Amino acid sequence: MDYPGNLIVVAAPSGAGKSSLVKALLEIDARIQPSVSHTTRPPRGQEKHGREYFFVPDADFDAMVATDGFVEWAHVHGRRYGTSKKAIEDRIAQGADVILEIDFQGAMQIKKTFANAVLVFILPPSWEELRSRLERRGEDAPEVIELRLKNAAVEMAQAENFDFVIINELFDRAVFDLKTIVHAQRLKYLAQVRARADTFKSLHIL
Ligand code: GDP
Ligand code: ADP
Ligand code: 5GP
Repeated sequence: MDYPGNLIVVAAPSGAGKSSLVKALLEIDARIQPSVSHTTRPPRGQEKHGREYFFVPDADFDAMVATDGFVEWAHVHGRRYGTSKKAIEDRIAQGADVILEIDFQGAMQIKKTFANAVLVFILPPSWEELRSRLERRGEDAPEVIELRLKNAAVEMAQAENFDFVIINELFDRAVFDLKTIVHAQRLKYLAQVRARADTFKSLHIL
């Protein structure tokens, strides 16, 4: 499928810092838009419907699956999460860069549908640090943290299927790495031809 916008997929085990990094990237780069997923999990403290997620009952999620409303969806930590067609298709067709924060199963599905999508995996610097970030975040009950840590081992084994890996040790460095990956997508030949057609024409290479 050909489209002018870039699709950037970011995956990581829970607590590696994915949401914080994507939030920081959105603040420094106005040309990137977030894809807002649907989920059947309840909202955490400050989360708002339509901002972090569309929080929907199981029946609504079922209906969207049945009507082919998702480009990908998966079971994660005992809940369901999905990226709706609406969340991305119009935007990339119009040339926006869209960033998806999804799990590795969803990332693999996206790569099949959108061969040009760029897949980025975020790793924590160590197990100890991953645990302490989950505890420090203070958003999940202890048994939920244990489940997320158990799942982290499975998720991190998937890093080899991604295009890029960022180790989120120093936060600013990791934001810079993510920004660099986005920047590089915009420098690809076809992206430059689209963005700078006049220059290419004036140089007689179009
Ligand atoms: P590398 O460190 O050899 O990979 O070279 P780079 O060109 O990627 O970066 C050079 C240095 O500048 C690195 O230490 C970066 O962390 C730093 N750097 C460049 N731009 C930024 C930025 O916007 N934020 C931060 N925190 N560091 C930056
Ligand atoms: P995820 O979205 O991957 O589950 P979060 O973005 O919620 O992770 O980050 C988990 C916790 O770790 C948050 O409290 C966040 O502030 C903290 N954090 C993220 N990156 C770093 C970092 N480089 N150093 C220290 N703490 C971090
Ligand atoms: P959390 O509940 O911590 O926000 O997210 C839990 C996991 O679900 C994370 O790994 C996150 O990336 C993943 N996730 C969030 N939205 C989606 C989505 O739309 N599709 C898929 N496949 N995973 C998602």
